[in-house]
Amino acid sequence: MSAITEHLQSVRTRVSQAARQAQRDPSSVNLLAVSKTQPVSAILEAAEAGQSAFGENYEQEAVRKILAIRQERPDLKLEWHFIGPIQSNKTRAIAEHFDWVHSVDRERIARRLSEQRPDDLPPLNICLQVNISGEDSKSGVRPEELAALVRAVSGMPRLKLRGLMAIPEPQSDPEKQRQPFNAMKMLFEQLKRAGYDLDTLSMGMSDDMEAAVQEGATTVRIGTAIFGQRHYPEKR
Ligand SMILES: *Cc1c(COP(=O)(O)O)cnc(C)c1O
Repeated sequence: MSAITEHLQSVRTRVSQAARQAQRDPSSVNLLAVSKTQPVSAILEAAEAGQSAFGENYEQEAVRKILAIRQERPDLKLEWHFIGPIQSNKTRAIAEHFDWVHSVDRERIARRLSEQRPDDLPPLNICLQVNISGEDSKSGVRPEELAALVRAVSGMPRLKLRGLMAIPEPQSDPEKQRQPFNAMKMLFEQLKRAGYDLDTLSMGMSDDMEAAVQEGATTVRIGTAIFGQRHYPEKR
C-alpha cells in the first residue's frame, strides 16, 4: 500500500473516531484533501484510494494541475475547492475551474466570482471565511460584519452560499483548540436560525481535526497528514 493510501486511511479513522466520540454520524464529516504544492502524481494516488475532493491555495498551480489531470484521466470526477487568499485578478480563473470556494471574505470578490461564473456550470459553492481568532493579519470577515456579508452573497445569482470556514490561530492544547471552533458553530447555528439554508462548516486541519469535529465541523481540510510535508518552493 502506498504511503498516501495509508495516511488517508488513518485520517479517515481519526475523523470517524472523533465523530463517534461526539455522538455524530461519521458520514456527516467530509474529508477535503489539501494538495497545494503536491504533484499531480500524489493527487492521482489519493484519487485511486477513493478520495474525490481536493483543496488548492494557489490559482496558477491549481489550474495547471486541474487541466493536466482532466487530460490524463478524463474518467476521474474530482471536485476542486479553492481555499487560499483571493486577489481580484484571480477570480476569473477560480470561477471557471473550481466547484467550491471556501475563502470568500469580501463582497467585491464574491460579486466578481458571481459575474465570472460561466453559465454552463452550476452555481459556485461558497463558504465565507471568518476571522474567528481576531488576529490582525489574518484573512476573514470579522464576526460582527458576517451577517451583512451573508445577506449580500446569498442574493448573488451565480453563487450558492453553503456555509462558513475558519482557520483559527494554531494552539497545541486540544481544549484551547475547541474554543474558536465552538464560536464558529454558534455563528453557523445563528445564521441557520435566521433562515439561511447552510450545510457546511469548514474547519479543522492536520493538527486540530479532532477538536473541529467535536465542535461540529462538516468538512475538515487535511494536507500534511495525508501527503506529508509540503514541497516548497513551488514552481508556479
Ligand atoms: C494548507 C491548508 C490546510 C491544510 O493544512 P495541514 O495543516 O497541512 O493539514 C487547510 N486549510 C487551509 C486554508 C490551508 O491553507
